[in-house]
Amino acid sequence: MKKILVTGAAGFLGSHLTDALLAQSAANSVLGVDNLSTGSLANLAHLTSEPRFAFLNHDITLPFDPGPVDYIFNFASPASPVDYARLGPETLLAGSAGTINVLNLARKYNAGFLHASTSECYGDPEVHPQVETYWGRVNPIGPRSVYDEAKRFSEAAVAAWHRYNAVDTRLVRIFNTYGPRLQVNDGRVISNFMLQALAGQPLTIYGDGLQTRSFCFVSDLIDGILRLAASSEHSPVNLGNPTEFTMLQCAQEVLAVTGSNSEIAFAPLPQDDPARRCPDIMKARALLGWEPKVPLREGLQKSLAYFQSCLAPKSK
Ligand code: UDP
Repeated sequence: MKKILVTGAAGFLGSHLTDALLAQSAANSVLGVDNLSTGSLANLAHLTSEPRFAFLNHDITLPFDPGPVDYIFNFASPASPVDYARLGPETLLAGSAGTINVLNLARKYNAGFLHASTSECYGDPEVHPQVETYWGRVNPIGPRSVYDEAKRFSEAAVAAWHRYNAVDTRLVRIFNTYGPRLQVNDGRVISNFMLQALAGQPLTIYGDGLQTRSFCFVSDLIDGILRLAASSEHSPVNLGNPTEFTMLQCAQEVLAVTGSNSEIAFAPLPQDDPARRCPDIMKARALLGWEPKVPLREGLQKSLAYFQSCLAPKSK
């Protein structure tokens, strides 16, 4: 048996990753750790009677020892602008003390380690599309800094535990990802637009809507993460879908998929909101033979039933 620790397992990506690891091999077992500050047990409810899965409600910023593990995926952190604004100090601690606690487990048990980093390491970038060798442009004290700098510190810690302590590390820089289980109240553009469109409410576009993002469907991202975990690459690798959309175009895609005739409403642009974001995925293509397969329209269609279920009245 291969014992795998997934921190942040009750979150959007952590829960999909857990599913993929259990499906990958009958010899895999997963211990999911989460303090449920932004994750939800509903994302793991289908695993209640899965003998190869166990759950530990724990905050990774406090030391813990699950016993020997073969591989660790470190995904525990608030991740949406709304969540990390609400949980600023907690976000800084998850990326610093939390990541070091988990790195020390990898060191103790000689486990492989993959850390979920982020395109936010590039900040509001001057280089487009963003390549892994770009060092970024981050405001160290702005409202996004609790997340951006925590993730940048995590990268430094992961690189140091590799360099000084010979931990077998991997770093993935994750670009905007969407799909079923996206939290409904975390203010992200895809969840906001889908829920607004389905409820017949105006789609809220922040700023002029000409800022861009590149949206990766969750199954493509998880496929890339599993490939990276199996590789021996220690420096950061971007994973994301390189097709870039303005938020106005994104709103049009959502209206087309939902068949909604909601209007567009403009609202102020949040401070330090990056103007452009698009991954350069040459490295992932060459190293992992990875390519995202699901275009935005198709991914939104695959997510439609989930967002509809979020709006449906819950039966008592
Ligand atoms: N955004 C928007 N309307 C919304 C939510 C977000 O126009 O209801 C914009 C936001 O200003 C940003 C982009 O959509 O430019 C992506 O925001 P999100 O919070 O999804 O993630 P980010 O990439 O900023 O971390």
